[in-house]
Order: sequence, then structure tokens, then C-alpha cells
Amino acid sequence: MPRRRSQQEDYNLEHELLKADTLIIAHSSERPVDEQSSKDIKKTAKLTRRICIRCKAIETGDVSYKACAKCQSAIYCSRECQKLDWSSHKEHCADSRRHKRLEKQVSILIANTNLLGVLKLAIILQLGLLDSPFPAEPFHVLVPLVVEPECIREFAKLRGDLRTVRAPRPKAGNGKPRGMMQISGILPWHSRSLSRDQVLDLARSAVESGASDITMDRLQDVTVGVVIFSIGELDNRGGSTLEVPLLISANMMRIAKMAEPFQYLIAANGEFWTMPMNAHSCIEFINNRIRIDHENKFLLRAEMTEADEQLVRESAEEFGEDSDSNRRLASELVKLRMSKEYVYSPLPI
Ligand SMILES: [Zn+2]
Ligand SMILES: [Zn+2]
Repeated sequence: MPRRRSQQEDYNLEHELLKADTLIIAHSSERPVDEQSSKDIKKTAKLTRRICIRCKAIETGDVSYKACAKCQSAIYCSRECQKLDWSSHKEHCADSRRHKRLEKQVSILIANTNLLGVLKLAIILQLGLLDSPFPAEPFHVLVPLVVEPECIREFAKLRGDLRTVRAPRPKAGNGKPRGMMQISGILPWHSRSLSRDQVLDLARSAVESGASDITMDRLQDVTVGVVIFSIGELDNRGGSTLEVPLLISANMMRIAKMAEPFQYLIAANGEFWTMPMNAHSCIEFINNRIRIDHENKFLLRAEMTEADEQLVRESAEEFGEDSDSNRRLASELVKLRMSKEYVYSPLPI
């Protein structure tokens, strides 16, 4: 039974959280690039080519693939593929609304060229791609996403770290706190889904449709991989994953090699400090960018579902040694990220 905290302790914690909440991170050499407008992000998100979930065929410009009518989520190249897949899809069809949300958030995230660029840097550094930029098979990497309260004090309250939330932010229509997408981490992934040729085919169709900044004749210089985005616990029903092919240009490799540090400004006290560029600081940069986007220009805010709240709550729980850590991967990653990102530093882990 946890000890009841005093009001004074609650007050002190909230004070610390307010300070942490005002951190601003900027890349030191970041050009004042024009942020994409929300409209541009939406437009680019639409250009993403889709893959038949059964035969892995790639959508072309003239054939538009159809989604399962029930869940609007499973994508098929043909009625034939859909029929053949139904025996395995029917089990998951009901869970697919969550998948639909993941799909929407991921397409919006990867249409944001600034955030995608920093995610690519994180992947290069995490997987050590600078040392072996052209693996024989595409790299596969898991990027778990989580939807958590946009307000750090709401986050602390969900975990039970804070009983009261003074001066709450305005809430969304249904009274639930507004959530925002955050990246929990980057993990090398060992199961292979797409071959190098399949990823390159996807790359070519992205180049042809104008959804990629990479040009045809430079495709041979490109590092090819697959990102598996996930939301929720992977082993539980209700968790969901989405595979996205990823191209990393030689130019992006150069930027990773230069590894210019990130600069942090704590707005609360005006202090600056710098942090070397590594996979963690890149992820923190992205998460903080989303955190400070109060106007939702990035379109990465979302309602929090019961499952999202449960995940945050579980990040405060202690698990026995015999508990299956794979089933807890997503909430364990929330905890791990809390130990690395400044905004969580006042909270007990
Ligand atoms: Zn198919
Ligand atoms: Zn379905």
C-alpha cells in the first residue's frame, strides 16, 4: 500500500512538473525551415502507396485498393485476396478500428518531413547504419507509439503520482484529457516482412508519385528498410502494428555523421544546455515538438481511449519477476522513456 502523500508533496511535485513542461529543444544548426502547413501534411499523407495485406502487392497509380468494408482497415488488391484472407482476418476485424487510428497517425507522422527526418536520424544511430549503410536485406525496426495526455500533470495524475491537478487545461468534448502521439523508442526487429526488392519497388512507386524527395537515379545510394509502427501491447488483443517502407538518402547519412548536438532551452529559467545527437535525443526532440504543438498543427493530437489510459497507468506498476515482460513491452517502454526525457524527470519511475 503506497504511503499517502501530503498536500505539500503534491504541491512541490506539481511545481516541478510545471518547470519541466516548459522545455524547448532546437537543433543547433536547424534552418528556420518553413513548417509544412497542416493542409500540406494531409496532402502528402494521402500519397502513401498501400500494400495488399495478403499477397503484399503494391498499389499502383491506376488501381486503387479496397479496404475491408467492416473495419475500413485491412487493404486488399482484389476481391480474390480478400476472400482468401477472410478466415484469418475475421478474428482481427473487430480490433481494426484501433488499427485504423494507427494508420492515420502514422501517415500523418511520416508526411511531416521535419519529424520524419529526425526519426531517420534516430534509426541510423540506433541501428548503427553509419558503419554498414547497405545491409543485404532491408533493416527492420520497431517504433512503438503511445497516446498519452498532452498535459504532463494529467499524465502524473493518471499514473497516481499526483492526486489533484490544479489549473487543468481545457478538455476535449467528451471530458477525457486530450492525448498526443509520442514515440516510445526504437528497437531492432528480427522478423523480416519485406524483401529488398519489394521495398525498392515501393520506393520506385513513391518516387514516381512524387511522395519521395529521392530521385530515381540515386536509388542505388539509398539505404532501404522497414519500420514497424505499433500501438498498444503487442501480445494483447487490441494492439496493432503497421509496416512502412523507409528510404534513407546518402544526405541523411551525412547529417547523422556530423551529429550536431541538440540545444535545449528551459523556458522556465532561461537556462541552455546542449545534448549530443543520439537516438534518444532525436526521439526526445520529436516528442517535445509534438508536445509543444498546442494548436495541433501537426495533427498528432487524438482522443485518449481507455486502452491508452491503461497503458499509462501500468507504467507506474511494479511487475513481479515472473511476469511476461513481452506482454508489458509498451508500458515498460513508457517507463524507460521517462528515465531519459527531461519532461518526466520530476516523476518517480
Ligand atoms: Zn493481394
Ligand atoms: Zn475487416
